[in-house]
Amino acid sequence: MEIKGKALSCDLRFIRAWIHASICMMHYHNCPFPIDITTLKIEIKDLTTRVNKVNGETGLGGTANWAKNRIELSYKLEPESMANVILHEVIHLGFRDFGHGTLEFTTRTLETKLKPLVQKLAQPLINNTQKAAAYIAHTKPGMAYRNGEGKDDFYNEKGAWERVGAKDKYGAKKRRLILKNKILEIKKEQNEQI
Ligand SMILES: [Zn+2]
Repeated sequence: MEIKGKALSCDLRFIRAWIHASICMMHYHNCPFPIDITTLKIEIKDLTTRVNKVNGETGLGGTANWAKNRIELSYKLEPESMANVILHEVIHLGFRDFGHGTLEFTTRTLETKLKPLVQKLAQPLINNTQKAAAYIAHTKPGMAYRNGEGKDDFYNEKGAWERVGAKDKYGAKKRRLILKNKILEIKKEQNEQI
């Protein structure tokens, strides 16, 4: 991803987090046009003279261009509206089309519904920027996450496998069945012993 330009009141990290979180949401739900993040271009610029093709108003918050794999964002947007516009344009790239005459209506509706959910993905990225960056920096040669020059590789088990509350509600049925079969097997063995 290449980002050009700067926003007046939003930090680049905020913009990046919302782009990544929006794309993550699109891809998790198998959007019909997955977004190529490596070639994606984000241009933050003055869009005040651009005319909206749908309502004829002058001044845009953002644009999405499928052929160029590019999103333009107005440099004037404040965080809440920047979040909306980023999600909106990412939906355009991921879906492209919802049928005749309903491109903006459906995009705006989906944007409104998904915004609070995407916020839950974006916010921890923003809030933990320093922490995660420091962890990653520790992987470099001579830093703390190296097992020492010339030593054999091994898995660092210090603090590994920490339980963090990873919940798999859709897999519960599967696990119940495994448990049930295990119990049946034990009962069968017990019966055979009798
Ligand atoms: Zn739109």
